[in-house]
Amino acid sequence: MRQQLLQYVAEQAAEDLPAYVYDLRDLREHAAAIRAALPERVQLFYAAKANSDPRLLDVLRDHVDGFEVASGGELHHVLTTCPDAPIAFGGPGKTPAELEQALQAPVDRLHIESEQELHQLTSLLAERTVDVLLRVNLPIALGPVALAMGGRPSPFGLDPGHLDRCLALIADDPRLRLRGIHVHLASGLDAAAHLDLAGQVVTWAREWADRHGVELTEVNLGGGMEVDYADPGRRFDWAAFGAGLRRLLEGRPGLTLRVEPGRSVSVYCGWYVTEVLDIKRSHGRAFAVLRGGTHHLRTPATKQHNQPFTTIPVDIWDRPWKRPEVEDELVTLVGQLCTPKDVLASNVRAGRLRVGDRIAFSLAGAYAWNISHHEFLMHPAPRFHHLDHAPVPAGSLP
Ligand SMILES: *Cc1c(COP(=O)(O)O)cnc(C)c1O
Repeated sequence: MRQQLLQYVAEQAAEDLPAYVYDLRDLREHAAAIRAALPERVQLFYAAKANSDPRLLDVLRDHVDGFEVASGGELHHVLTTCPDAPIAFGGPGKTPAELEQALQAPVDRLHIESEQELHQLTSLLAERTVDVLLRVNLPIALGPVALAMGGRPSPFGLDPGHLDRCLALIADDPRLRLRGIHVHLASGLDAAAHLDLAGQVVTWAREWADRHGVELTEVNLGGGMEVDYADPGRRFDWAAFGAGLRRLLEGRPGLTLRVEPGRSVSVYCGWYVTEVLDIKRSHGRAFAVLRGGTHHLRTPATKQHNQPFTTIPVDIWDRPWKRPEVEDELVTLVGQLCTPKDVLASNVRAGRLRVGDRIAFSLAGAYAWNISHHEFLMHPAPRFHHLDHAPVPAGSLP
């Protein structure tokens, strides 16, 4: 499929680039493999904020138990795209209107971020009931991770010291059904680190529940499964993770776990493809200027990494002047923006690269287009292609 995808890219007219190409078959196979690796008592929710492209959600709905949303906008979008899918609504700073929207949907779970939010929710309930998880910022040492959301001061979740007051509010109000605990502490965890975290969280939650006479039926372990942009072939070990969770669930018959990954689910199916517009040298360094840039693919700028890529040579050159090129030297791939931050990959080896060649950036299926500052400089938006079994043009494939 990768070969087909690269060929498809090579056939796009230069004016039709940049483009995002989503490999839906790849997504389907990957999501099915994740689901298959997880035990029955582990529910898989997809965090829509990673990429909420409707065609991606449509593929995922067959392989996940539901979707996690983090705003009223995402809630509306997922309800419209996948009307029957269970939805968990989390995230800080939910407005009264968003809470009302969640109650009307109604959502499967509401993740409570603060005592104020719980008060706000009760004031809106009227005759309705709602299933809640308390999101806790547990003091757990995480080691080196890409992005820490908890285990230290943070605006996310409840400080453990504030749980008792929330519990008292819930105990007094039969309309609030406490299902359990939610924890999303970090992103960039490999399977061993995530399992270690899961063990600590479940142990803490069990003790906490026993101490307070709460029936603990659910623990949501969050997302944050690692994606290695420096080594795209090294993927989160879902088989080991699933096996570890199975062990964790042994001897805890009444407990259901839930995970809500985003990046590690959709990142691999997305490609950002473009062409080389210019190649130049400046004070001893080579630069390739690409059509597009970080206003379409902000990921390398935010994460300060080199976005992995493949070059697709285009041999046709019909201009009367010499074709600019670099060969076997370090080159920095930049976009069209008038800022030194518009770097997609810095000082990388690209083999032979010429003006007019194509570049396909991989790992662009999560936190890519949707986190980018599209309006800056008013360049045209990319095109979007969704490849599946059929849509590759007939006759174009070997
Ligand atoms: C962003 C987020 C996720 C998904 O994180 P990934 O790193 O994309 O897997 C899951 N849960 C919560 C609460 C989040 O904020």
